[in-house]
Amino acid sequence: MTRILHRSTRQSYPIAVGGDGPYIIAQDGQRYLDASGGAAVSCLGHSRRDVIEAVQAQLDRLPYAHTAFFSNQPSEELAEHLTSRAPEGLEHVYFVSGGSEANETALKLARQAAVERGESQRTQIVARHQSYHGNTLGALGASGNPGRRALYGPLLADNVHFIDPCYAYRYQEAGESDLDYALRAADQLETKLQELGPETVLAFIAEPVVGATLGAVPAVEGYLKRIREICDRHGVTLILDEVMSGMGRTGTLYACRQDGVAPDLLTCAKGLGAGYQPVGAVLMSNAIYDAIANGSGAFQHGFTYIGHPTACAGALAVQRAIERDDLLANVIGQGDKLRADLTAHFGKHPHVGDIRGRGLFVGMELVADRATKAPFDPAEKLHARIKSAAFARGLVCYPNGGTADGTRGDHVLLAPPYILEDSHREELVEKLEAALADALGQVS
Ligand code: PLP
Repeated sequence: MTRILHRSTRQSYPIAVGGDGPYIIAQDGQRYLDASGGAAVSCLGHSRRDVIEAVQAQLDRLPYAHTAFFSNQPSEELAEHLTSRAPEGLEHVYFVSGGSEANETALKLARQAAVERGESQRTQIVARHQSYHGNTLGALGASGNPGRRALYGPLLADNVHFIDPCYAYRYQEAGESDLDYALRAADQLETKLQELGPETVLAFIAEPVVGATLGAVPAVEGYLKRIREICDRHGVTLILDEVMSGMGRTGTLYACRQDGVAPDLLTCAKGLGAGYQPVGAVLMSNAIYDAIANGSGAFQHGFTYIGHPTACAGALAVQRAIERDDLLANVIGQGDKLRADLTAHFGKHPHVGDIRGRGLFVGMELVADRATKAPFDPAEKLHARIKSAAFARGLVCYPNGGTADGTRGDHVLLAPPYILEDSHREELVEKLEAALADALGQVS
């Protein structure tokens, strides 16, 4: 019998057969409220006719043409749409099929631009602990995620160095102001550059709001500005990974807008195609583009499906729908209400340590002890119990485990679609509360 190798070989997966707004419908008729958009992907829900029709129309016109020979209309229009709304200086774009490809591409763009500028000694990368930039070997090598790295360590590059994330709940000291903490956290980059020799460092990569590893932890105000200054001072390329946090998830199309910072390279995926098509993008500065254009004139990289016409047509329709329906206003409004609801339900809960996030990118961290912030024993797998209990009630959320060394607790990431309504939000909170009670009842 043929079997698909799913994430877990020990469980069976219901077959998803339909979509209805924020709901996924399984073959047995069960409806699941998709409160995490899968993994922060499905930002328009699962049944947008305008996007489906745009994809169908592109398939009728031209499904695919290799970019070694042709450009195509949807990718040209999508490039214009994204760059005309991007932070200052990000005027050029490269289209890929997902987030890992986007980060691989960004690292290679940074490297080629440095070599073309005559700085081939720049070979070192600085990233952060508690980060995730993708599962391909280059992107995983730059990810500070011990769980995902463990098995593949011997295959990962040894030129990546890690500093702490900007994670106020666990790293801000009592009595320390937000700004002091932001600057102290950012200055770890300066220290690391001095250790390595700043002239050897190619790039620093970080998520403006940490998603998969920490559960919607935004940088404290002032952090990314200081990071930008440090990168500028030493000619280090700043790569911001907005694969999860970008494309409106936090209430602005680009998450880093809220930090008042423009990177040299910005990666996005997930919400770009909203799951209607697999697509990602790397936005780049003039300086990066020009280094290649004025140098060799050819980017030594590529994938078969870059600039895929149907994927770009889907993404363009998604991005136009977000604007036409003013959905970012709903992201901000529903996001505020969701955090307020979570605070009302769990704000005094003995095992909820922190409720955080921006827009509809929301996280809740669970602790064994609120006062000491001690996480649950990871062996209890509280996150997996919450996921199963929620799923059994028809709720899809994205829990993640804590660590034994106490650097993070189990947490639940919520990333519902931008079309969220009050009734969906109420259902979400009610089911999450019941799932949490079930899961906590199973641990000692
Ligand atoms: N970067 C971030 C911040 C992510 O959250 C993810 C996926 O969760 C990736 C990169 C990898 O994206 P993909 O799974 O599309 O390759």
